[in-house]
Amino acid sequence: MDFKLGGITTGPETTGPEHTKLLILGSGPAGLTAGLYAGRAGLEPLVLTGLEIGGQVALTHIVENYPGFPEGVGGQELVDRFKAQAERFGARLVMDTATEVNLRVRPFEVKTYGNTYTADALIIATGASPRKLGVPGEAEFTGRGVSYCATCDGWFFKDKDVIVVGGGDSALEEGLFLTRYARNVTVVHRRDQFRAGALMQQRAKENPKMSFLMNTVVTDILGDDQVEGVRLKDVQTGEEHERPIDGVFIFIGHIPNTDLFKDQLEVDERGYLKVHDWVVTSIPGVFAAGEVADPVYRQVITSAGMGAAAAIRAGHYLDELAFEAQEARQAQQD
Ligand code: NAP
Repeated sequence: MDFKLGGITTGPETTGPEHTKLLILGSGPAGLTAGLYAGRAGLEPLVLTGLEIGGQVALTHIVENYPGFPEGVGGQELVDRFKAQAERFGARLVMDTATEVNLRVRPFEVKTYGNTYTADALIIATGASPRKLGVPGEAEFTGRGVSYCATCDGWFFKDKDVIVVGGGDSALEEGLFLTRYARNVTVVHRRDQFRAGALMQQRAKENPKMSFLMNTVVTDILGDDQVEGVRLKDVQTGEEHERPIDGVFIFIGHIPNTDLFKDQLEVDERGYLKVHDWVVTSIPGVFAAGEVADPVYRQVITSAGMGAAAAIRAGHYLDELAFEAQEARQAQQD
């Protein structure tokens, strides 16, 4: 018997390998779009959602650059729509996380917290996780003033002073979102130029609640039970000073979630899965989609596109497998 949580299966009571033609790891835009395409192709895909359905976009307040939504769409709403569409066409979502993968055997083997799955083809859409600053206090105060998600935690900083670390679109976008709650949002960036796009920079600079500390890094996050301040260093002069602060929001990019596959699939020097033809990995039958294999574009639309492409390629691969199996059966009979 399966357990249902919000319409999603949370893993079977019984253990024992469960076979599926196509297993999809991850439920962000890439995984759910792969589920949609594979479902429509009759591949009966099983999607292991991971802990958080929707991945990073589910934590985004509003998505303004996904086509078809001229007024923008909430990140969670977009995920709900992706999920409903995938399920409508037969994708089965299971709320479980892969803990071990064996791509050296056929069918492939994937262990999760709740079960073991075997699959003829696999689409890896495990996304990426926020990069950590790696300074003292960061781990200790995560959830107690240190956050990687403005949409999740912004509300706790009503009328407080916060800093945002980073200089990309995420830092400025999330910083702008935080101005809804916080009294002041100071962006701390290690260089004198932002990496963020011009429009985002303009919006940030025009917001009266936002200020900017360039050429500056955080060297220490300070506090007792929760964040009370940061130690900042001017990278040009080397001068350091402490600054009282209530919250530290860190948006300095992401690290692809490839630990499970690193010794079996080719990865690049930053840990992204190497692919050719957009979604094809170094092992036949294993495809990759979304940010786990995309160090360049990392957009909802490009991840969804990769998901669609991976499902199409997986379909072709499964057709070939079925054809070969039929040929082998035929040869035995002859
Ligand atoms: P990003 O563009 O890679 O920017 C990361 C920022 O963090 C950079 O400014 C980088 O500094 C800084 N950084 C990295 N490591 C650091 C460290 N150890 N200490 C201090 N600072 C550090 O990442 P992102 O902002 O998450 O954006 C990812 C992608 O999503 C981009 O393609 C972006 O355009 C896109 N995105 C788009 C939107 C939108 O269009 N609305 C919103 C969010 C994200 P340097 O600049 O010095 O390297």
